[in-house]
Amino acid sequence: MYKLLLLRYGELGLKGKNKGQFIKRLQDNIKKALPEKEVLNTWGRLWVPIDGDLEETLDALQCVFGLYSVSPVIKCSRDYEEIAEAAKNVLQNARPQGGTFKIESRRSDKTFPLTSPELSAKIGCMVLDRIGEEYTVDVRHPEQRIDVEVRHEGVFVFGQTIPMSGGLPVGASGKAVVMLSGGIDSPVCAYLAMKRGVKVEMIHFHSFPYTSERAKEKVVDLATVLAKYCGSLKLHVIHFTDIQMEIRKTCREDYTITMMRRFMYRIAERIARNRNCHAIYTGESVGQVASQTLESMEAINEAIRMPVLRPLCGFDKENIIEIAQKIGTFDISIRPYEDCCTIFLPEFPKIRPKLKECLEMEENMEIDALINDALEKSYVLHIKKEGQ
Ligand code: ATP
Ligand code: MG
Repeated sequence: MYKLLLLRYGELGLKGKNKGQFIKRLQDNIKKALPEKEVLNTWGRLWVPIDGDLEETLDALQCVFGLYSVSPVIKCSRDYEEIAEAAKNVLQNARPQGGTFKIESRRSDKTFPLTSPELSAKIGCMVLDRIGEEYTVDVRHPEQRIDVEVRHEGVFVFGQTIPMSGGLPVGASGKAVVMLSGGIDSPVCAYLAMKRGVKVEMIHFHSFPYTSERAKEKVVDLATVLAKYCGSLKLHVIHFTDIQMEIRKTCREDYTITMMRRFMYRIAERIARNRNCHAIYTGESVGQVASQTLESMEAINEAIRMPVLRPLCGFDKENIIEIAQKIGTFDISIRPYEDCCTIFLPEFPKIRPKLKECLEMEENMEIDALINDALEKSYVLHIKKEGQ
């Protein structure tokens, strides 16, 4: 019955050239999510033809940020008979057993001869004439609302508005790197970054042979799930072992985590600048573990100049787990493989590390040489979403 899916995006603050670019980007991202479908940008809106499995199409669209809602619609001419027939079909399809309904009209084309209330009343009566007594009108609390939108290019009838994920189209907000561990938090962080329109590249620190191939595979699997939201992404796998060994050799044991993180940030910043990225995202929250005290963040952050964004800093673990389950990363994150940080975890990590101490220890280290060497031994994986 439905041949067209109407796609709605948030238009708040969209003007002039920005609006055109925003819609073009959204359209491109929808095309990537639905490669076999045509995405129409006509009549001042975006549309996808409905053929095949609607549920599948909706699932794919849930992964496209920037879409706020969609509606399967019937497009009619201005003929009242045709509009009433469409409204009747929408009603019967939504409530096959009968029930109360209301027609809600809107006109963006004011040359239409009837006002919106007049049109609603007329179509409501015409529907009642064509349908059984199990259907009645209730304008206050209808079980089914049927929208009739009169626009210049035609009349659109629909009975359902399905919420989408919201946010901004990926790419609309520039690029950033995400530090992706195998844990629960950083995949959620990556998701939230993309949701605000940021195109991401992932960085994973790997301590081969202390961490196994399977620990890396886990991260590849996480990145593959996350690629659903952007089509494809780059995963930089960093050889971190030598730096960790050097830290173990030259630094105080209780500062191991702090020093490791300073190096991680430095490497992330280096890659970010090379890849035209302007921020580093991490899954850090406040107070979760020893390295996530404010003092610790301050001591670590000092190593670099690029902004570090921590979208999870205001979340409880329960909220984070909820999102991880929703986006499908949780079951992968809880696979029991070791992480590069846990392998070298000191018995009593410093909860309030001092920057002065960090700087003193780093005086004995060849920071640039260590980083260059790690980068030389690193490689990039091109991750595509499943099925591509
Ligand atoms: P997560 O669940 O994301 O691992 P966490 O609560 O275990 O977080 P930490 O292990 O302290 O916290 O890590 C904090 C953040 O540092 C992570 O969210 C991630 O962004 C980054 N990080 C930690 N380990 C790695 C790693 N091996 N590779 C890349 N990033 C990492
Ligand atoms: Mg972790």
